[in-house]
Amino acid sequence: VLDAPAILRVRDLDKSFAGLHAVDHVSFDLHQGEVISIIGPNGSGKSTLINLISGFLAPDSGLVDIDDEPVAGRGAVDVAERGLSRTFQNGRVFGALSVDDNVALGYHRRLRALRPAKGLQRYPVVRWASLLGETALALVPGPAARRESAEVDIRVEREIMRFRERLGDRRGNATYTLSYANRRRTEIARAHISEPRILLLDEPTAGMNQSETAEVTRQLQYLKAQGHTILLVEHKMDLVTAVSDRVLAMDGGRVIAEGAPDDVRHAPQVVEAYLGK
Ligand code: ADP
Ligand code: MG
Repeated sequence: VLDAPAILRVRDLDKSFAGLHAVDHVSFDLHQGEVISIIGPNGSGKSTLINLISGFLAPDSGLVDIDDEPVAGRGAVDVAERGLSRTFQNGRVFGALSVDDNVALGYHRRLRALRPAKGLQRYPVVRWASLLGETALALVPGPAARRESAEVDIRVEREIMRFRERLGDRRGNATYTLSYANRRRTEIARAHISEPRILLLDEPTAGMNQSETAEVTRQLQYLKAQGHTILLVEHKMDLVTAVSDRVLAMDGGRVIAEGAPDDVRHAPQVVEAYLGK
């Protein structure tokens, strides 16, 4: 995969919060079909890095290019339109909407392409809502948005099939009634349904038990086998080792090691970074 073209190029990315250097001149390439995991102790800058990449934060300096287009500082909607989909460390779904409707919202990018005339005014709101999660609930026009296209119903069906043991009989339920793990499954399905160029997952197994983590591991292995390009932030080293082509280890905002999962995991500076916390 290293011979494949770089879909995402990050150069000298830098961000401070009131003097705290959260991301310190980070550079790396993510190639087509590659899975990179970012590891590092709490506070090492992982979430800030992916917020910079996904346009939720503007960098102080540095470049983020998607397919050779500069996107740094252009905002989350622009980045999403270039084909990056993400999930959040704390999980963000619309609690009052059903599983199906949450997943359908993730299809906004394709919806807009499919239906340029009818309902176009609504989708800018929907796409914001699906990016921002719960906080934008009041803005969501509701389930009607997805009924406009049979294509969407088919896609949602297919997406949820992959989680059928867990979500199959809960598709119509408001997501606030679901277990934490099921809300996270819903969020992953919502991020994946648009078939993003880049799928960015911030600790998708946070708060999950061992069997739920194993299930997400299988899901990610499946997505990797399908050729998806994935940037993953994750603590659980078994998962990281099972799915990653490469691992970047961060500490104090900087990349302190990079390479094959087992090499990075056992690198002395990485072991020390974790012990020091
Ligand atoms: P990680 O995801 O690796 O745990 P974060 O990227 O969340 O780390 O945080 C990196 C550092 O930046 C931490 O010291 C954190 O407290 C700080 N930080 C993150 N976001 C903000 C913010 N919005 N304002 C101020 N400090 C922040
Ligand atoms: Mg984090």
